Amino acid sequence: MKYGTVNTERGIACANCNSSISQDGVLKQNFCEKCGAPLSVEAIADYERHNDEIKKMLLKSMQEISIKNNTDSFAKILAQLLED
Ligand SMILES: [Zn+2]
Repeated sequence: MKYGTVNTERGIACANCNSSISQDGVLKQNFCEKCGAPLSVEAIADYERHNDEIKKMLLKSMQEISIKNNTDSFAKILAQLLED
């Protein structure tokens, strides 16, 4: 998914779906009504932070599963990913 906005001849459009966001060139919403993409700098920062948290949670639960199932090499790979 692309984030943010693009400037067009008709005003501002969503960078992801190209849907028209604003005709007067002023961004009044944080997310695209059509595709849900974050548009403003704040919304993009929140979105990326949230994505990172979800990724870490997923990796941690995968790590717990691999430890429970005694799959050593998989646990090591996940530990490496969590460090990055
Ligand atoms: Zn959109």
